Amino acid sequence: MVSLAPASPPETSADVPRSECRKGPSAALQSSVLALNRNFMAVQVISAKRAFCLLFKGQAEVVNVEGTQYCSYDFEGWLELSQMKLSMGDRYDHEDWIQAVNFQIQVPRVIRLTCYDQLPKASVKFNRRNIFLRDGHRCQYCGKRYSSPRLSLDHVLPKSRGGGETWENIVCACLKCNVAKGGRTPAEAGMKLLNKPTKPKRSPLLNRQLSLRKYECWQHFIPQSVE
Ligand SMILES: [Zn+2]
Repeated sequence: MVSLAPASPPETSADVPRSECRKGPSAALQSSVLALNRNFMAVQVISAKRAFCLLFKGQAEVVNVEGTQYCSYDFEGWLELSQMKLSMGDRYDHEDWIQAVNFQIQVPRVIRLTCYDQLPKASVKFNRRNIFLRDGHRCQYCGKRYSSPRLSLDHVLPKSRGGGETWENIVCACLKCNVAKGGRTPAEAGMKLLNKPTKPKRSPLLNRQLSLRKYECWQHFIPQSVE
């Protein structure tokens, strides 16, 4: 349901606090934030830096899962809550915090775009990165995992035989297996696919993030039935 395509929510040119700019981008600012539309539907994953920009401009509010409730905070309210948590020593390893000159603030995991009511994009972008992610960076013939530069895309039914550029016909393959297979079908080459390639129902990157403890709270806003 969620698209990772850039630029769906309103763009902003707001600056992050000067103290953060001076520090340069930290790992915490690069962490991901789930952006909901006005109606609490997940529309996009954005960086924490962008989320703070939107919060500063008053275009978004933090949605914090507290027990069985969602609580909303504007920037000031979120800062106050962060200070309170700090004073109580209420910080956890799976949280990200930003250290500015005069204050520390927790990176929210979910924000709501208060003026944005478009619906999430339904389909997952068909591209190299998402195919690698769908296949877990694993060659679908030998089963070994490789980094992106050492992987290629293989047409299961070769292009020369009418095989299309589709989720169902393109798989991740290491260079060795791709060359060994050549312009043949897996059966002709005596090779077997690990998995039948299918179109993912939601972003493979989002799937990976959902499995991490730090982004667990996103599950409240993303349909569970989708794989
Ligand atoms: Zn291989």
